[in-house]
Amino acid sequence: EDVSNPLKKINREIYNYGINRHKEIEDLKKLEAFRREFLADVSHELKTPVFAAQGFVHTLLDGAAEDKKIRKKFLKRAARSLDNLDVLIQDLLTLSQIETGEIKMHFEHFNIVNTVSDVIDQLENKAERKDLLIRFDKPYKDPIFVYADAERIYRVVMNLVSNAIKYTDEGEIVVGFEITDQKVEVAVKDTGVGIPPEHLKRIFERFFRVDKSRSKEKGGTGLGLAIVKHILEAHDSKVSVLSTVNKGSIFSFKLPIGQSTAEMEEDARREM
Ligand code: ADP
Repeated sequence: EDVSNPLKKINREIYNYGINRHKEIEDLKKLEAFRREFLADVSHELKTPVFAAQGFVHTLLDGAAEDKKIRKKFLKRAARSLDNLDVLIQDLLTLSQIETGEIKMHFEHFNIVNTVSDVIDQLENKAERKDLLIRFDKPYKDPIFVYADAERIYRVVMNLVSNAIKYTDEGEIVVGFEITDQKVEVAVKDTGVGIPPEHLKRIFERFFRVDKSRSKEKGGTGLGLAIVKHILEAHDSKVSVLSTVNKGSIFSFKLPIGQSTAEMEEDARREM
């Protein structure tokens, strides 16, 4: 093509401008569609606990409150619906803050064995109530340092272990670490219901659930794995999942190896 011809050059520029504008408009349309769909999803999800709480409160007002036993039962149910609503709103806020980059990540060196121990301590009672055991795959006497946002990684492990408990009826939940070239892999393994292969890709989408009634019954918001995915993306990492229906699932992710305080002090000394 003869680019020295000024007319041809101008024509080409006009043409490219058209293509770029077209692409921009298409992107905006997609974003707009996404936003509309998101709003519809959110409204729908908010309605469920609000309707439930409303139902219980109105039934109480209509006379059910006279009976002491029924009163207590309905108040408890209304309270549970409001608690679910609270969790949903919290999750939505977290998700939107991460998506818009409003939450700044605070990277630091920390011992991930402690993080997992804390999560296990926090969830032990919940597991016990279902006769499930949560444990490490083997004792980790030495710390394993990673370089990441400690609070957000706590949230990731919390969501993965909570799911393992939610979707397991019998057996155990095992957390393990594997160290390979400058990375630590954290794996949460359960002996639960598993995920059908055709759904594996979609479980990280907001509000996607394999079994809607099971998720809701356990107080699930359908946002847990979307939050996990976003947090790990902010770490340049991702979640992997292996699952077999009625056998169980393994969720895992990798983080860069960090330094212990002693190692950091040693480095600082050497640099002086
Ligand atoms: P939820 O609040 O519904 O648990 P999540 O985003 O955490 O939402 O998970 C999305 C869906 O993925 C769940 O509803 C469930 O169907 C499936 N899922 C997640 N973790 C597991 C697991 N460990 N075992 C089986 N299914 C799982």
